[in-house]
Amino acid sequence: MKTWRQTPVPQLPGTSGSIRLFDSRLRDTVEIPAAPEQSFYVCGITPYDATHLGHASTYVAFDLLNRVWRDAGSTVKYVQNTTDVDDPLLERADATGVDWRTLARQQIALFQSDMEALHVLAPDHYVGAVESIPWIIPEVEKLLDAGLAYQLAGAEGEPDGDVYYDVTEATRRADSPDAWRLGHVSHLTVAEMIEVFGDRGGDPERPGKHSPLDPILWREARLGEPHWDGGTLGPGRPGWHIECTVIARRFLPAPFTVQGGGSDLAFPHHEMGAGHAWSMDHVPLAQHFAHTGMVGYEGEKMSKSRGNLVLVSKLRAAGVDPAAIRLAILAHHYRSDWEWTDELLDASVRRLENWRGAVVRALPGSAEPLLAEIRGALADDLDAPRALAAVDKWADDCAASTPGGAETDDGALVSAAVDALLGVAL
Ligand code: ZN
Repeated sequence: MKTWRQTPVPQLPGTSGSIRLFDSRLRDTVEIPAAPEQSFYVCGITPYDATHLGHASTYVAFDLLNRVWRDAGSTVKYVQNTTDVDDPLLERADATGVDWRTLARQQIALFQSDMEALHVLAPDHYVGAVESIPWIIPEVEKLLDAGLAYQLAGAEGEPDGDVYYDVTEATRRADSPDAWRLGHVSHLTVAEMIEVFGDRGGDPERPGKHSPLDPILWREARLGEPHWDGGTLGPGRPGWHIECTVIARRFLPAPFTVQGGGSDLAFPHHEMGAGHAWSMDHVPLAQHFAHTGMVGYEGEKMSKSRGNLVLVSKLRAAGVDPAAIRLAILAHHYRSDWEWTDELLDASVRRLENWRGAVVRALPGSAEPLLAEIRGALADDLDAPRALAAVDKWADDCAASTPGGAETDDGALVSAAVDALLGVAL
């Protein structure tokens, strides 16, 4: 699938070094050394409600990682999927009377235009679930052959043959410290997992499964549902976790450097993806797992089920500068949960004006120390709020001491640094 247009990144003098990142699997901050190549996978959207601020904050957070790595001179491989066939997409299409393919196409286009506007660097591969089906089928067949997956007999109007991943058996075969076992990524207890599984795409109540937590790998065709030829699996469509696992394995090294996503993806999505990958070839999926906080609005988590989505496209249509939206996101540390408010957006618009005004008043010699401060803040677990505070202070100092004029060398360097490292064009 086509990815979005790449935003040019200015080259800066000097380089970033290693980065310290909080690894949610290890529950500790780890040092990721600078290396010639880095790779990451950020789970993409299911295209039916693009792009709310919760989505945007996740992609902006991992965009910082991409930018720091590039600034360190690394070649960065970045892959993102889009789950262009899944239950919520089909339900929305049904409810609105739009063909599911049309809905997916429209929402993907909207999402990509939002990403471009927010200066999120494009992935090298943007891959849909539908186009991945031919790669997924053989992997599901292998898991069945290995006794790590099973087919369910149909009951109560369900067809025979849905394929599930057997978490108990996969955990039983965990035979090395690197091996995946249930809870390896999320650290939830089984009771906690069962509690959230149903709300996050799982079907803990389905009779006949070996464990309530077994996730689906291949869903047999139901009447009226889109389906594809699954070879020995029968006609159907793939599960969500195997989709990401197979896409990541196809386009990235094994293990790749960082698996990213919102904190609500740690379980079951990243947990199960890590399990599938380990079961496929006994190599961990990713070296590190990083998760972003949730964004709230009017006192509740922003989600389609609550109907309290703030959409990037609506803000843009209302004339909001996307750079101000990006600054509003960057005002919070990526791991914290935070709330979107109109006041926050107003403050970000003022901050942007302040920075733009300072570029033409930059104090001689002020840019290099600021560049070092921005690099230092981002290398410390992507501490964007600290980077923003440093630019604020620089802008205030410039405004207090010099009259406005033409952009100076220092102004140009700050402008390039803010663009290259924070993704904000001044
Ligand atoms: Zn994913």
